[in-house]
Amino acid sequence: GGFQSMGLSYPVYKGVMKKGYKVPTPIQRKTIPVILDGKDIVAMARTGSGKTAAFLVPMFEKLKAPQAQTGARALILTPTRELALQTMKFTKELGKFTGLKTALILGGDRYLNTAFTSFIILITQNRFFCNYELHFYAFSPLRLFEMGFAEQLQEIIQRLPDTRQTLLFSATLPKLLVEFARAGLTEPVLIRL
Ligand code: AMP
Repeated sequence: GGFQSMGLSYPVYKGVMKKGYKVPTPIQRKTIPVILDGKDIVAMARTGSGKTAAFLVPMFEKLKAPQAQTGARALILTPTRELALQTMKFTKELGKFTGLKTALILGGDRYLNTAFTSFIILITQNRFFCNYELHFYAFSPLRLFEMGFAEQLQEIIQRLPDTRQTLLFSATLPKLLVEFARAGLTEPVLIRL
């Protein structure tokens, strides 16, 4: 099955075609239908596997339905600033025809203002964390990382709405992350290559 058999709407499909993707990568073939189905997933996917499009394409599809609700409807958390910038580039290109606006929040209040008018918020997990836990601001990102990536995610999860679809993509699945997935995700489908 190619992208055309996945039941994507034209604006989403057009973005994929414009990007030059002819066939889905193995991780995309496995994740896209499951995400479209509304399920939580834990996917093990390396950089280079096509993981960014693996969550962006179905996310665009899920968000495209017009809703009366204003404000953010999707949150993308990345571990690093570099990955946030790279993901922003993908959202602009792949989502070009969807009309969905993404706010990349790298710091400062002026970024937060754009977040209120955007459907998708893209932010590093440290910054998201720090925006709500200012006392952690004094810590360097490395320190937070040492504290435990998964511990930080646990705190973040508590601030998110109970009704949500959660997608966890990681190259590795250390024990803490498995524990996080158990606590923060609902009957996640485990996808590995
Ligand atoms: P990623 O793993 O998300 O960092 O993507 C790695 C590279 O694969 C990027 O340059 C993507 O544009 C590219 N890519 C993603 N999906 C596809 C696809 N279905 N066909 C061809 N290239 C792709």
